[in-house]
Amino acid sequence: DRLLDGGADDVERAAEAALRPRRLDEFVGQSTVRDQLSLVLHAALGRGGSPDHVLLSGPPGLGKTTLAMIIAAELGTSLRVTSGPAITHAGDLAAVLSSLEEGEVLFIDEIHRLARPAEELLYMAMEDFRVDVVVGKGPGASAIPLALPPFVAVGATTRAGLLPAPLRDRFGFTGHLDFYDASELEQVLLRSAGLLGTVLEADAAAEIAGRSRGTPRIANRLLRRVRDWAQVRGDGRLDLRAARAALEVYEVDVLGLDRLDRAVLSALCTRFGGGPVGLSTLAVAVGEEPETVETVAEPFLVREGLMGRTPRGRVATPAAWAHLGLTPPA
Ligand code: ADP
Repeated sequence: DRLLDGGADDVERAAEAALRPRRLDEFVGQSTVRDQLSLVLHAALGRGGSPDHVLLSGPPGLGKTTLAMIIAAELGTSLRVTSGPAITHAGDLAAVLSSLEEGEVLFIDEIHRLARPAEELLYMAMEDFRVDVVVGKGPGASAIPLALPPFVAVGATTRAGLLPAPLRDRFGFTGHLDFYDASELEQVLLRSAGLLGTVLEADAAAEIAGRSRGTPRIANRLLRRVRDWAQVRGDGRLDLRAARAALEVYEVDVLGLDRLDRAVLSALCTRFGGGPVGLSTLAVAVGEEPETVETVAEPFLVREGLMGRTPRGRVATPAAWAHLGLTPPA
């Protein structure tokens, strides 16, 4: 797993658990989604019923799982967690659904990766609080309807566009999470440092925030690396010196680019004159798989205006040349 990847594995998730905001008013930034969600939840609480199903979309590491947990906490109920890839058969989903208790929140991460039969089962469950359990095979098979207690589905997806319309339509509320700005990330960092029992100096917070790619997960991860540096090589203080030194050790530059990002940009500029060059040629030049370049490095480089995608291939922008300290060919 890369230091600057927005995703997380189980070990990472364990380290994160302590840093998660528990209530909506502790959740930093995303004011639009927060405000809308607050209305949805309070209205449901006021009526004494369950809210609509909620779909959360946005890139990894921006707080979708955290919000699902907050939804359950605000509703005073418990959360059950599953994910699209974990459900390989419709029967797996039927088992989860039929074990839900009334009012529980079912969080389905990466919901766009649910297999089709499971997806169909889910529509029905969300709409009618019912599943048909198929018993037997072939002509003798029959469907036995099973009533479910009312529950709240919270789906999370990095690709809302990939969800089939019938599934998307079952969600009464969709919140889209966007990248955080630097001042929001500073708040996330200061809060996290407090929870870790340390004091993060303001200029160090700004330094880390600026290199965190708009993503709280990355900000928290870099904070842990800075804390390591301060403990082992510094004087324990999380100050600007520690932040800069740690980020240098981990090769995270001032824009939040890591070694792969810089290798891609540098190959593009120095070996291909700034492009255009095809993805696979570029990938060979940096010794990576095309898919890695396309899914790991490219989205951030494009978002930061360092790389452009044209029909003839990838091109370096003037900002890329400037960032590498190079002069573009005349
Ligand atoms: P996602 O499910 O979108 O991949 P998570 O909800 O797991 O992201 O969040 C990743 C990490 O970032 C968690 O440790 C969480 O505490 C932190 N985080 C995310 N959003 C916020 C926020 N708005 N305020 C504070 N911390 C946040």
